[in-house]
Formats: sequence, C-alpha cells, structure tokens
Amino acid sequence: MKFALAGNPNSGKTTLFNALTGSTAHVGNWPGVTVDKKEGVYKKLSEKIDIVDLPGIYSLSPYSPEEVVSRNFLLNEKPDLIINIIDATNLERNLYLTTQLLELDTPIVIALNMIDSVEKNGDAINALELEEKLGAPVIEISALKQRGIHKLMERAYQEAKKSRVGESVFEGTKYQNLFFEIKKLYENEGVDNICFHTVKMFEGDQIEKEKYPDIACVADKIKDSIDTGDFEGDFEGIVADLRYKKIIKDYATAYKRSKPKEAMTRSDKIDKVLTHRVFAIPMFLLIMFAVFHLTFSEDFLYLGAIGIIPKGSFSLPVIGEDAIPSPGVLLYNCIEELTTLIGNALYSSLPKGAWYTSLLVDGLFSGLSSVLSFIPQIMVLFLFLTILEDSGYMARVAFIMDRAGRKFGLSGRSFMPLIMCFGCAVPGIMATRTLENEAERRRTVMLTPFFSCGAKLPIWAAFGGVFAQAFSVINAEAVVYGMYILGIAVAIIAAMILNKTLVKGDMPPFIMELPAYHAPQFKNLVLHLWDKLKHYLARAATVIAGSVVVIWFLTSFNFSWQMVDDPSDSIIGNIGKFISFIFVPLGFGMGENGWKFVVAAFTGLIAKEMVVASIGTFSGMDGGTALETDGSELLGTPMAALMLGIGGVIGGLDVSIPAMLSFLAFNLLSVPCMAAVASANAELGDKKSLIIAIIFWLATSYTMSLVIFWVGAFFVWNWWAALITVLGIAAILITLAALSAKGLLKTRKIKKETKAGKSEECVKEGL
Ligand code: GDP
Ligand code: MG
Repeated sequence: MKFALAGNPNSGKTTLFNALTGSTAHVGNWPGVTVDKKEGVYKKLSEKIDIVDLPGIYSLSPYSPEEVVSRNFLLNEKPDLIINIIDATNLERNLYLTTQLLELDTPIVIALNMIDSVEKNGDAINALELEEKLGAPVIEISALKQRGIHKLMERAYQEAKKSRVGESVFEGTKYQNLFFEIKKLYENEGVDNICFHTVKMFEGDQIEKEKYPDIACVADKIKDSIDTGDFEGDFEGIVADLRYKKIIKDYATAYKRSKPKEAMTRSDKIDKVLTHRVFAIPMFLLIMFAVFHLTFSEDFLYLGAIGIIPKGSFSLPVIGEDAIPSPGVLLYNCIEELTTLIGNALYSSLPKGAWYTSLLVDGLFSGLSSVLSFIPQIMVLFLFLTILEDSGYMARVAFIMDRAGRKFGLSGRSFMPLIMCFGCAVPGIMATRTLENEAERRRTVMLTPFFSCGAKLPIWAAFGGVFAQAFSVINAEAVVYGMYILGIAVAIIAAMILNKTLVKGDMPPFIMELPAYHAPQFKNLVLHLWDKLKHYLARAATVIAGSVVVIWFLTSFNFSWQMVDDPSDSIIGNIGKFISFIFVPLGFGMGENGWKFVVAAFTGLIAKEMVVASIGTFSGMDGGTALETDGSELLGTPMAALMLGIGGVIGGLDVSIPAMLSFLAFNLLSVPCMAAVASANAELGDKKSLIIAIIFWLATSYTMSLVIFWVGAFFVWNWWAALITVLGIAAILITLAALSAKGLLKTRKIKKETKAGKSEECVKEGL
C-alpha cells in the first residue's frame, strides 16, 4: 500500500516522514527544501506501507511547482490513502488545504501534529468533534516527540481499505445548484475524483480547462448566467470564501483556548528586535560575526587582546599563548597535534628519497591533511548555521534581505536558495526551481557561486591562519567573515547589474510565512552534521585523493617523464608558468611562485577543496618549505608547511597581503566546481545561457580581484597603482560592451503563461 503525506509547509511532514521511515531527510524551515517528493517504508504494520513525503503546499491550485507536483501525484498515482498533516497550533489556516483534500475520492486521515505545543499553551482540541464534522478520522500526534504515530498508522491502515467519495464545501450554499450542474457534465465522462474536478472547473482552474475543454465550454456558459455579486466573476475567490466560512463556522470550534489569543506571541516580540527596520541588518552582521568568532578566533572574546589575560601568563600546547581559543580553533589545534603524530610516524617508517615516500608524504598526506584539518572548524560553523536555520532565524534573514535587496533586484525568495549555498551550491541551485519567475530564477542561479560554500572554507581558514601568523594586523576570523560578507555584497551588486542587463524581468512580491522561533532539535542537528561530515569525507576519499595523486604526479615529473626536484620544472610547473601571465594583473600570478596559485585556482574547478590541497602538495614538495626541514623528522604539520608555503610564495613583492586577498576573492567569485556547473547547466536549460553565466563569473571575479589587488597595492605603494586599476576596469567594461553589441547576448522570445491562463508572447532580453 502507498500512503501520501500532504500538508502545509512547516507542518512537520518531514519530521513525521523521518519518524515513520527511520530516514534522515533534511528538516528545513523554508519552502524549496522538499521540491520533489521523497519515498520511504513503514514496517510496523502487518503489511509494508510505502510513504511518500510530498512538498509543502497551501492549496492544490496550479500556481507553484510544489502544488503541481503534489496535485499530479494525488490524481495520477492514486495513493491508497492521504495522511493530511496539520499544524494544530494553526488549525484554521491548515484546514484550508484539508477542505481541498477532502474533495478527492482517496481515503484520508488527519494527523493533528504538534499536539505537544497545543498542550503546552494550555489549549485543547476536541478531536472527536472535528472527526465528526470533517467526516474523516482525526488523530492527535506529535511527530517530534513520536507520540500517537503508531495509532495514526493503524487507523490509516483500516481506513485505506475502505472506499471514499469526495465531499465539497458547496453543500447547502447558494452555489449548490450550479455545482451540481457542472458535476453532471463529468458524470457522463466516467472520470473519478468527480467532486475535485467539479470544484476546479468551477474555479476556472487552468489545468482543468485544458484537460476537459468541452466541459469547460459548457461550464463557462452556466457560470456566466449567475450573479456573483461582490465577487464580480472571481470564481476562485468564491470558493476560497466558502472554504473559510465553513472552517470558521464548523471546524474551528473544536479548538478550545485556555486564554484568549494573545495579540503578540513570543516570536512577534523577538521579531520586533531582529527584523527591526533599521537594526535588522546590523544585527544580522553581528550575529554572523559572532558565529565566525566562535569558529575561527584564536582569542576568544578578545580576552588576551584586551588584557584580561595579562601578557606572559601562559604558553601551552593546543591552547596557545596568553589567550583562550574559540571552540572551533581548540578542535583544530587538537587535530593539528594528531596530524603531526601521524605525519611523523608515516615519515619515519618510510625509506627516505623513494618515489612512494614522496607520493605518500608530500602528495597524499600533505594534500589531504591540509583539507581534512579544517573539518572540525567546518563542522562547528555548520553547527552554528544549522542552529540559526532550525531556530527560524534564517527565514527572517530572507525577509530582511528582501526588504533591503528588492531595490537592487534581489528578492527574499531568491535569497532562500542562496542561503542553502552556504552549505553547498548544488542543492542551492536545485532549489531555485521553486522560483516561479523565470528571469528571477536565472538571475539567482548566476549568483550562487558568490555564496561561499563549505568546500571553500578551507581556503579562507588556511589563508586566515597565514595572515594571523605572518601579519599580525589581521586575524583569521576577520578574513573568513570578510569573505562571506564580500560574497553577499558582490551578489547584491551583481543582481543589480544583471537586472539591468543580461537577465531583465520584474519581480513578483515576496510572501513568506515566518515560522515561530523554537529551540533547535538536538537530534536534527546531529543528523544534519553527520550528513555533511559523511559527504565531506566521501569527497576527500574519492575526488580529492584522486586529484591529489594526479597533481603529485604532474608536479613530480617533467615532460620527458623524469622525476624533478624543483616543482617549477615539472609538467604542471611549466604549464602554470605559461598561463600565469593572465593573472599577473591580479597580483597572485606574479613572481617565481605565482604559478602555484594559478594552478591551485584551476584545480578548484574539480572541487574547491583542491585549492588548498594543491597548495599543500606544492608546499610538501617544495625544497624550501618541505616538511622535512631538518632532515630527520617533520618539523610541523602539513598545515604549518602550507602556511609557510603561502606566506613565502609571492616572490619579488615584499607585500603579499593585496595579492593574497585578490587570490581569495578570485576563488570566491569565479566559476564554481564542476558539480555546481553541471547543476547550473541543468537549471539554466541551454548551453548558451551556461556560457554566458561562465563568462559572467569570470568577468566578476577577474574585475573584483583586480580592484582588490590594485586598491590594496595603492595603499602599500603608489598612486599610479590606482590609475592602472581604473584603466583595467575600463578595459573590461569596454570588452563586455563590445560583446553585447556583437549580439552575443541576443534577445529571444519566451512564451509565458499568465496567471489568467491566456498565453501571450512576451519578449525578454538576454538569457
Ligand atoms: P515540513 O516543512 O512540513 O517538512 O516540516 P518539518 O518537518 O521541516 O518541521 C517544521 C518544524 O516543526 C521543525 O522545526 C520541527 O522540529 C517542528 N516540528 C515538527 N513536528 C513537531 C511536533 O510534533 N511538535 C513540535 N513542537 N514541533 C514540531
Ligand atoms: Mg519538509
């Protein structure tokens, strides 16, 4: 048997689905998390039950991808039963969907979820009364506390064996006769779900009219003949009104409040502060800074810097000197100690000078450990971001950003997939499917790389570490935080430019329901982090390890297949030196070692972790910064070597901060990894759009890096640096203008369906 889970967003579908099937699907706080349906099995009844988790919906109208997915599933695949899950704390609103599901012939049970919250408020629901009035079983459950779940399934199992005929809200209203007349038209057609179809035809639903054009014709005539009063022919409005009236009159009376509904809930009060017109954005920046401070700061709460811990108090392994590290750094230090031990053991047990020692130590160990060392910090950061998401704050961020970004062409709706990109761009790009507006969707896909993903984090952390060590003016957390904020800022500017040039198109208003704040679920956090960790380790063991071996090989041999001592004589060294002139204007292509950065940036196309892994491998193999500095044993960890490598690399220039910042910006803003490019290709739909997107990413990253390097250089060197910057930017703008004049970014026609259902031709520029 097959049961479908249907309900509003945030009603707890995924939580119930996980509880039923033992699965670990992501419980999210915003639409778009479950665009596609998910399937699992419930095994605790005498028969196995397939459970399908449908996307969250408010109605079965044809206006959003979620609604269409759910509707098609319910009508065409005919589950044996629908479990309609309801957030009982919002009974009235949730019953709106219920009135629509009741129109189907499919048996249905109603799961009154979050009954724990209802009880906590001191309220109660008369489930029996509700059951009588709805004409379908009503079972109180708590998906979260796993209460009433088996009872729900037993009841559902009984119910699924019965047959059911759909019921509408029309009975006893003044539209009853009209309804019956339309219904008769279907009776001759021999379709099932007649009640549902009749209601849809009454509403003038587009999908329905296309499917039954003959009936639509007759129905339109019947509808024309009646007086709709204030509704002025808005039949959809009439039905909505009937539904609400019935809910308020018949169903909502089952909810017994212990005290009158408070005008302001706790969430409202918190929102008064966190979504304040003026303070919302500073507050967001502050919260994010706190997160990065907790993850990357060597000096927690600046206890050392402000002198609470006096100078010379202590110098300890793992902890550090005269300061207490943040939790993220503490974990990192532990891992660093561990890698030193492993590295030493590995190095001393292998014969010196053998090619496989080089492969294992300089290649695999240096490359992989430079990526893996950051796992604790990545996990700590994700923990904080997940807490922010799960508590409901991230949904507010979308709301705040809508208010701030709308003027620039970035709506809150596109912000939600973008926030997902902080984890990984692939699901983020896929989530853009929830955006109805095509132009907005394409724009959003093009912005995804700017939201720094988890795989880029090792780059920021490694360089942040170098900055902190080499130039005590900047600390690590500021570098990492800066990269995230830079990404968001560039995204806003880029949205504005895209909105005016490549992907024009207006933005529909953003309506979003803000979930109530609640404490994050421990189990949920653990599952989520475990998922990330698994994913990360799997990548390290496959793609990254494989690529590191290739990089090691290309760095160890020259074109005549002989092993070389100096990496710059190697295959990759020669190629790198050949192409690095392109990056000389950006600073990091300069000097003797510039090619290493260039190659590292290129390997980032495979996976962004490769940027650090490649530099780690180069450092491991470079005589000057090798691990075996004193000949017998490793002096430091690969990370230390990596830092030395980075810190000492920009040859010829005594100042490397601008070049390094430019390198970071380039990696942040440029073409994302292959997996993300493939998803972007799938979502953009055609090769030309993808090519434009790639050019756009390259142009953005190149320009930003150029600006950063030369503005930085200006502070460090001369005024003429500023002049070069201006000329460089002008050159890029002229190239872009020339490209668009040549018709590369031509106009093309897109057929657009309007809401009213009439199809019209409209011309859109660009993509
Ligand atoms: P979906 O959008 O319908 O898939 O809903 P989710 O499963 O993602 O849940 C939305 C939020 O409601 C999550 O934060 C859950 O932890 C919370 N939630 C789900 N079920 C319950 C419940 O029975 N009681 C309470 N108090 N919270 C719940
Ligand atoms: Mg869900």
